[in-house]
Amino acid sequence: MTKADTDRIDIPGLDVAKAKRYSRTRLVVLIASTLWSVVRLAWFASDSRALRLKEAIDRLLPDRPLTAPVFIALTTALSWLSALPISYIGGHAVERRFGLTKQTASGWVEDQLKGLLVGVLLQTPLLTAAFAVIRRRTRDWWLILAAASVPLTVVLSNLAPVLLMPLFNRFDPLRDEALAARIRALASRSGVRISDVFEMDMSRQSEKPNAMFTGLGNTKRIVLGDTLLSKFSEDEIEAVVAHELGHQVHGDIWRLIGFGAGAGFGLAWLLSRVSPPVLRRTSRQTGVTAPGDEASLPVLALLLTAMGFVMMPIQAAFSRAIERRTDRFAVELTRNGEAYAHAMERLAAESLADPDPPRPVVLMLYSHPPIVERIRAARETERRFREDGLAGSVSQIGGDSKATR
Ligand SMILES: [Zn+2]
Repeated sequence: MTKADTDRIDIPGLDVAKAKRYSRTRLVVLIASTLWSVVRLAWFASDSRALRLKEAIDRLLPDRPLTAPVFIALTTALSWLSALPISYIGGHAVERRFGLTKQTASGWVEDQLKGLLVGVLLQTPLLTAAFAVIRRRTRDWWLILAAASVPLTVVLSNLAPVLLMPLFNRFDPLRDEALAARIRALASRSGVRISDVFEMDMSRQSEKPNAMFTGLGNTKRIVLGDTLLSKFSEDEIEAVVAHELGHQVHGDIWRLIGFGAGAGFGLAWLLSRVSPPVLRRTSRQTGVTAPGDEASLPVLALLLTAMGFVMMPIQAAFSRAIERRTDRFAVELTRNGEAYAHAMERLAAESLADPDPPRPVVLMLYSHPPIVERIRAARETERRFREDGLAGSVSQIGGDSKATR
């Protein structure tokens, strides 16, 4: 077979032309919103606007210690507001036009407002404290902040499914008893302590079928969208659950936290080296001379945005490697590559997945391998698995998945 032959896979039910239009539209909106956010930040950072805003707050408030948190909360809210029109287009209008959401515009805005509120409540005290550390520890603030962010991420990962996610969606224990029993059996075969399985009203926001593993320690769980439960066959749901179990078996949440921590130390160090000279050089326009001043926020945000671009392909590659391995694990666990391939095909059809996305887009943005690769890999894994089975090693694979990885 030539490469062209192997690359072509027909996905039943997928409207390829529409999927192509959808992914092109999303890319255009993403580029526009990224440019818009850089332009906004550059405008805010280009003269003494941030400093003047901070001083105005200072004059209005009776209490000096309140200036920093109010300044941070206000800039967060203003930044959210100035991004709202383009977020609306990308997050709602496009999805609606392609039939991928039934949410109303007001429902969408309500979700965004809740998100803003949670963001401001979490971010304001943390950033206020961070700036205090930067002022007091001018040499090693990066080390302190990066180190402090690790336990913070662990706590937030633990609390998110019980504290944050229920603000936006409803979670119930899986109602279908027969399916729940099947999932429990699968979990015990995977060697993972049975985690809770929940169903979630994902259809509030999106018609795309989805599932996830989330939480940490006593809150870790598998969550299945109602969109998945209503559109997928039992075999296909089992295939998806096997994938989520794979994340738990491999401790992927810890891997992601570890990756984030490594990146956090690197970026914080870089920021601590780059920001002082940049701030000194721009201080005549901005009136800000050091990173410990909250008014340096737009300049710091611009620098972090630039660093984020460099991190994007690294992070995406890391995630794709995890997902590729998890796909393989799922097929080995269910011993049903065909059901897995079908699940992926249905996923592609229902979410309008681009069957052959441009390589640069995959490298920069894709957290999962392109769907056609996942389908092909599932069938390939099953084929190899059968060959190995015929060679006599089939007894190895049943309960041994944890020990062999
Ligand atoms: Zn996954």
